Amino acid sequence: MIPEPVFSPQTHDWKVALSESFRQIEDLLKYCELDVNRPESGSEAGFPVRVTKYYASLIEKGNPQDPLLLQVMPDKREHHHIQGYSLDAVGDIKAMPVPGLIHKYPNRVLLTLTAACPIHCRYCFRRHFPYSEAKLDISNCSPVINYLNRHSEISEVILSGGDPLMLSDQKISTLITQLNKIPHIQYLRFHTRLLSVLPERVNETFISILEQFNGKVVFITHINHPNEISEFNQRVFNLLSQHGFQLLNQSVLLKAINDKKSILSELSYKLFDNHIIPYYLHSLDKVRGAAHFDLTVDQQCKIYTELRNSLPGYLVPKLVNEISGQLSKTPVQCS
Ligand code: SF4
Repeated sequence: MIPEPVFSPQTHDWKVALSESFRQIEDLLKYCELDVNRPESGSEAGFPVRVTKYYASLIEKGNPQDPLLLQVMPDKREHHHIQGYSLDAVGDIKAMPVPGLIHKYPNRVLLTLTAACPIHCRYCFRRHFPYSEAKLDISNCSPVINYLNRHSEISEVILSGGDPLMLSDQKISTLITQLNKIPHIQYLRFHTRLLSVLPERVNETFISILEQFNGKVVFITHINHPNEISEFNQRVFNLLSQHGFQLLNQSVLLKAINDKKSILSELSYKLFDNHIIPYYLHSLDKVRGAAHFDLTVDQQCKIYTELRNSLPGYLVPKLVNEISGQLSKTPVQCS
């Protein structure tokens, strides 16, 4: 267990905080008090480094194996082309009837709103996503709104990206206004990593915009390791929960990051103590460049069985795969 870092934000303006992110590997390594000539470091493989100062403050200084550092540090193994690891790991493009709208499951759709993220996770399943052709432009969203109007079976819209909280308050407000005109859209879900990497983003203005939505707002946070929860994002989770927004978490099971029962168990308790229900534990989506994070099914099941045997049921996330063409996530079959 590393000591809680002291993070003193220089600004409470999230756009300023974002602009101060690390964009160069050397700068991040220097900040982490590490050798800038690490042999295992790779070039960025077309996926540039991006790490907020807040997230970097949670990395243990001088520890090249820190589990938060390993999620964001380019590795030379990203250049290996391994069979079975593809550019579109979960079949998003095949399921896109309108640019920027993915319709895989009957009653819900996912909107890819932006290519931008506050952090670049090296295992990201959308690291090769063709955002230039497959992103929704909110200022011209009538094809998506028309699609939603025609499909009365859709009750939930999931905002994704990239990270949907990278959009300006104005754009989120515009979208909510449009969705409020469609009576069958009752649930609005944000899939976001931002709450745990740029806590400055959540303020009273943002909350008041969310409160304009006529239905229920749900946040699916993306937190992989207990060290990603600190007193700063705890405040954000408390605020969202106090305003009645439901919080659930999805993690990705990652080799050398969180592949231990003790880590996942601590994460579940820490999430729950912060009003977040552990929801999914994803098997790695087999995207090109991320194979070094993957575990065999036997390894996954061993960890998962130990986790199940050590936690009350309400703290055990579901271990799942996303398989292209399936109508829901697929549970990993562990005996
Ligand atoms: S925040 Fe999400 S979409 Fe962005 S790089 Fe990380 S995993 Fe990918």
